[in-house]
Amino acid sequence: MTASATRQRPEADLGTAEWLVCDGCRRMIYGRRFARGGHVCPECGWHARLTATQRIALLLDEDSVEVVDTPVTAADPLQFVDTRPYADRLRSARASTGLPEGVVVARGRIEGAPVVTAVMDFRFLGGSLGAAVGEAITGACEIALRERTPLLLVTASGGARMQEGALSLMQMAKTAQAIGQLDEAGILTVSLITDPTFGGVAASFATLTDVIVAEPGARLGFAGARVIEQTIRQTLPPGFQTAEFLLAHGVVDLISPRAQLRPTLARLFGVATRRPGTAPVTPGDGRGAGDSRGASHGGDGVVRDPARLADRHPWEAVRLARRLGRPSTLDYIGALVEDWTELHGDRAATDCPAMVAGLGRLDGTPVVVIGTQKGHTATELAARSYGMPSPGGYRKAARVMRLAAKLGLPVITLIDTAGAHPGIEAEQNGQAVAIAENLRVMAGLPVPVVAVVTGEGGSGGALALAVANRVLMCANAIYSVISPEGCAAILWKDPAAGPDAAAALRVDARALLAAGIVDGVVPEPDGGADVDPLAAADALRAALTGALAELTPLDPPTLVTARRARFRRFGTPAPAGGAAPAPVVPAARPPLGAGRTHADLDDARRAS
Ligand SMILES: [Zn+2]
Repeated sequence: MTASATRQRPEADLGTAEWLVCDGCRRMIYGRRFARGGHVCPECGWHARLTATQRIALLLDEDSVEVVDTPVTAADPLQFVDTRPYADRLRSARASTGLPEGVVVARGRIEGAPVVTAVMDFRFLGGSLGAAVGEAITGACEIALRERTPLLLVTASGGARMQEGALSLMQMAKTAQAIGQLDEAGILTVSLITDPTFGGVAASFATLTDVIVAEPGARLGFAGARVIEQTIRQTLPPGFQTAEFLLAHGVVDLISPRAQLRPTLARLFGVATRRPGTAPVTPGDGRGAGDSRGASHGGDGVVRDPARLADRHPWEAVRLARRLGRPSTLDYIGALVEDWTELHGDRAATDCPAMVAGLGRLDGTPVVVIGTQKGHTATELAARSYGMPSPGGYRKAARVMRLAAKLGLPVITLIDTAGAHPGIEAEQNGQAVAIAENLRVMAGLPVPVVAVVTGEGGSGGALALAVANRVLMCANAIYSVISPEGCAAILWKDPAAGPDAAAALRVDARALLAAGIVDGVVPEPDGGADVDPLAAADALRAALTGALAELTPLDPPTLVTARRARFRRFGTPAPAGGAAPAPVVPAARPPLGAGRTHADLDDARRAS
């Protein structure tokens, strides 16, 4: 144990540099101010590299650090010599860094949350991944596994260590499988990407973690920019491979300035750390595991009897459901979810702005929340792709659902979308495949799943978030196989026949509750959720906590079996003896008559 070295605060080893030149903006910075700010330029925000020792001092609670000695293996397996013997290079790196190798492993706490961390030091042969580094990273994974503590990997590397040949290549596989074992055990893994993280490190443990946090401006990639430019002879886009570029392209979850790292990580660890033996929520009365309709519970406010819902023309619900002032998914999250961390990206190509996903607490219970996101203004709507997710959006949702399954967190989905994005790019990227995959993933999630259609529930794009144990909808929401206007255009040959189609399709809460498509209806304030968003949020909170209280005590096989049974029965002949209640189908609505206004018709035309 050599814990004493790590107790140094970063400013303590500033050395004698009173003034230095920022690598970002080339301005002179006063050294002490720079150090006090965590080695971040106060002028331009450039984040300078930290040594492993500085990083540990910056991240972990001051008196919590316990450095773990890791074996230095395979000192020079190939007796490698380039312009200098490898053994000489190692000796110099040890002398100049004071470290035995390029990574420091430590136990500690971040704002009280326990963590096992492995921190790479770029000064040590460019943070290269040799056998000793791979061994230390794997060792950190194994400690985290044994002690069931979240793992934090802080990466800084140019790639594999050439001087160790194929042995260094094997470290990628060794570390990757160690992360895989943590996945199987349900232990949270987080990486903090610092500048630069490339090659074999980027293509193994750095990007295999549950949550990838990056410092502003940090570059991450497999091939370096110079190699790419020389190979393909193209000019690279500005900001190529930076954290900001990678956030937009779905690779990193979030960017955190250095000053915010401790609270950001502590919030994440606080919510996502699996606690074995945590007392489940007290089950509600009258609970029935396989009863997908849900028992009636006092206090959750959910309406389960269609007769209690206003009998009105479904077109009224269509108009109300589309009001721009209705609370969006992020509005509901803001009102209901504490300690919220939004996760970004499908880890492949994009971060769909029409899909929001993350973790937080609902009434103290850690949950994953996923939902489609519209907006209240034309600008917001355009930026959010009108709430119509791309395939990347559905893949992001699936990724976060799998994370929920790994961590044992309930999944809540909030649905308000006209449908999945219809477009060339969406088709090229496999929109149909992405939706289909979500249906299968959701059906098998070993955690409670509650879906709420809060506005528009448009077709497969909505169902891709709605394969749940409890499917609820808000009183003025709609849920439909096709938009009424789309149906009208095809079957009536007249898009203006939307109201007639809405009635025929029975898209409103009363009809869908009667048919058993939804299990309950969340009441809305008089005049609609947009009239009193806080009251709407309160009603949603009561409905969600009620559903979770029913579902949380159930074990994973029971949850999956009940969910599959819920969807298995649709379109199945009623069993003899009438054990299952036959869906009550209300009488078809007449075409919109006297109550139909010019505004209705205008709406229908506009929407078509
Ligand atoms: Zn600067």
